[in-house]
Amino acid sequence: AKSIAVLTSGGDAPGMNAAIRAVVRSGISKGFSVLGVRRGYNGLLNGDVYEMNLRSVSDIIGRGGTILYTARSPEFNAPEGVKKAAEVCSRLNVVGVVVIGGDGSFRGARDLTNAGVPCIGIPGTIDNDIASSEYTIGFDTAMNTAVDMIDRIRDTAESHDRCSVVEVMGRHCGDLALQVGVATGAISILVPEMPWDFQTDIIDRIRLAQKTGKRHFIIMVAEGVGGTNEIANRIQKETGIETRATILGHVQRGGSPNLRDRVVASEMGYHAVTLLEEGQGNRVVVVRGGKVVDFDITEALNMKRTFNKALYDVALSISI
Ligand code: ATP
Repeated sequence: AKSIAVLTSGGDAPGMNAAIRAVVRSGISKGFSVLGVRRGYNGLLNGDVYEMNLRSVSDIIGRGGTILYTARSPEFNAPEGVKKAAEVCSRLNVVGVVVIGGDGSFRGARDLTNAGVPCIGIPGTIDNDIASSEYTIGFDTAMNTAVDMIDRIRDTAESHDRCSVVEVMGRHCGDLALQVGVATGAISILVPEMPWDFQTDIIDRIRLAQKTGKRHFIIMVAEGVGGTNEIANRIQKETGIETRATILGHVQRGGSPNLRDRVVASEMGYHAVTLLEEGQGNRVVVVRGGKVVDFDITEALNMKRTFNKALYDVALSISI
């Protein structure tokens, strides 16, 4: 039988398992045999694959992480690596590969398609940093996890009249910081997309709020802005307010995917297999206008993200 393969690549995200499940189940329904590839492109290079059946993906829709494991593969990220992976695919009768990951993983999918193996990308990353898609699998769960954590930090900051500087993930993309900052009432939100100034965007805002009686403060920092500890030290030095830095880190990536991530992952996984069934490759499955559609990978990689400036302005005017 013709086989399709599925792999997860780059950083893990809650909902990747739900996407794997959808690929396996719809692939088998459409008459393919489905191979699970371990550790991203590494598994393709090493032939570390196993045949999955309908029950291989039982009880994973609600589990975080990825049962296929994920990795970054420097060896694949070179023409010889891509060629080798294509040879392994042809030896295994693999006629298509579904790659769940971020932009880096999609570049790999494009290269592997050019080497003769049709690939379909599915955006799985908590950063929401895929320009072509309004949504990436894992984002909703990660936002809600961060809100939960920051609500706790807020309780203790409030009890001690403290300032908390909290760093959330997002290397090039401030979406997580923006959404979570609005949802937790952060007085400043620092994102890579917007310029900021320590005095006007942090100190002046704290002082103004202090005048009206505010005594505890949250400053939200996106990972890509960095300097979280230094920002906290400077705030304490300049305002005298006891200030603590918290870097949330990988707690944001773990945990059971919520409803939205499970549903989007299921739709995207199904859609990806439909494309392979039609013989298509070099496509990425995205959400556009609230619908699941697909784009050419090269076209998708060239798209530019737009930052939600309107929401940023809302935050500035109400978190005071
Ligand atoms: P995340 O957003 O979680 O970082 P990502 O998919 O962008 O996910 P990367 O580490 O950039 O993560 O890429 C994952 C893997 O994709 C790399 O280890 C490599 O094997 C492959 N890859 C990345 N860039 C390329 C490229 N330009 N050409 C071929 N393969 C690539």
